[in-house]
Amino acid sequence: MLRDARARDCERIFCLGDLGGFGAECDAVWPLLRQFGVECIAGNYDVAMGRGDEDCGCGYSDPRDNELAQLIYDYTREHTSPAFARWMRELPPEHREEIGGCDVHMVHGSPLAVNDFLWESLGDDELRERVGASGGDVLLCTHTGIPWQRVVDGTLVVNVGAVGRPANDGRRETWYTVVSLEGGAAAAELVPVAYDWRAQAESMRAAGLPEVFTETIETGWWTTCLEVVPPPERSRGRFQVYADAFPDGYAPRDNVVPLFGSPVFPRRLWIYTNFDCNLSCSYCAVASSPRARKRRIGLERFRDLVDQAVAEGFDELYVTGGEPFVEAAIVDMLEYASDRLRTVVLTNAMLFSGRRRRELERLSGRESLVVQTSVDGARPETHDALRGSGSWLKTMEGIEYGRSLGLSLRAAMTETALNREEVEELRALLADRGVAGDDFAVRPLVRRGFADDGVEVTDAVMVPELTITADGAHWHPVGGDLGSSPDLLVLPGAEVTLADAKRAIVERFLELRQADGSLPRAYRCAV
Ligand code: SF4
Repeated sequence: MLRDARARDCERIFCLGDLGGFGAECDAVWPLLRQFGVECIAGNYDVAMGRGDEDCGCGYSDPRDNELAQLIYDYTREHTSPAFARWMRELPPEHREEIGGCDVHMVHGSPLAVNDFLWESLGDDELRERVGASGGDVLLCTHTGIPWQRVVDGTLVVNVGAVGRPANDGRRETWYTVVSLEGGAAAAELVPVAYDWRAQAESMRAAGLPEVFTETIETGWWTTCLEVVPPPERSRGRFQVYADAFPDGYAPRDNVVPLFGSPVFPRRLWIYTNFDCNLSCSYCAVASSPRARKRRIGLERFRDLVDQAVAEGFDELYVTGGEPFVEAAIVDMLEYASDRLRTVVLTNAMLFSGRRRRELERLSGRESLVVQTSVDGARPETHDALRGSGSWLKTMEGIEYGRSLGLSLRAAMTETALNREEVEELRALLADRGVAGDDFAVRPLVRRGFADDGVEVTDAVMVPELTITADGAHWHPVGGDLGSSPDLLVLPGAEVTLADAKRAIVERFLELRQADGSLPRAYRCAV
């Protein structure tokens, strides 16, 4: 970094503090600072080292973060010479100077505190408070380790990055900033620094530092001190949650994991092909009916979503509606999807006639495809009372036809006061038709859409299952209808990408979780 700055003809080099705290060779930096004439202010680490404090004062609130921070602080204390620590004690807490006609204010954390985190995602009021406390034309800081710049009320605010640790961006380079100050104008360039990261990792390993630190050097992703990172920055990283934050029995083996793919954000994608339906069930959670706004996504978008799902690491796809078999291209869709992913299609099985009946034959014997049918009673009158006259018989015929084609079948019953007593009777009846064991499930009624009774579900109590409709990305399939569940839309737009939708869900999840520290319960409406 120092050579790079020289090569760019930087006239002065400033260091905003924290001279140790991640690498193994704590004293090695001191001669370099002198050799290159680096002007330093104190970071919280340097204050702590200079005073001989028991901890680094990084400002973490989570016990897991503090444990890891303590580990590296203890190492740094043991491996920093007393002379270097004494030198740190003399460093000024900030630097302020008129340069190139600009009032430049340099701090470690923020003008409020040496260990204050000046994140890019801070709200406008919080940013203004810090800019106001400075009053400079240019405010330079570091401490968080993630570089960014923005003009706030006429002040150029720059988090200059850190050269001792990658910026949780999947790049092994670290970051510093070149600031141009001339004629009262200021501009900043965030600069990535390529360096011998292998040698750095090797030296940390040789020193016996834990692998969680070395891994960050080798991958560019943070595996420690994550709880303090705000949801927007944290959702952009690879890892989000420590293993011991999961409920008993769910804890993953690794110390820290991505939210996506963990038990609280399964690799299951839902696609609503359309919202119109031949039925208008009295409790339909997504308010479908023959008159519902169709919201068809079309074959081309469907195929694109399947391709994205494969690329983004989803391992199963649930295709639903409305009634998916209203969609003319449904068999093409299911062929395309089940060639690439385990696929389940949810249907009332009433439309397996005419052209569709012939087309369905193309799906016969597909091992990666399951047809899941809703059956809400063992007797026609019970099912029909909820789903419409004559529907039970047609559904049963549909199940028979699916079975004759060799399709894998499942069934699910939505439990209500009307059908509660018929569960075992229905289980036996379906078993006779080849739907047995775990292939039959009873799910609770959800108070959404047309339902005025049932379980209240929100994003605070359901684990997310990413759901795509023509309106955008939603938290969970029970909230797929924008009209009746606007609260469960996470990203609007007919063309949202799964990568953006995943990130938006992780961000919202972290916001919710940070409210009370809990993890949402799982509610599943599929088998
Ligand atoms: S519950 Fe299913 S079958 Fe009934 S109206 Fe809704 S989408 Fe159609």
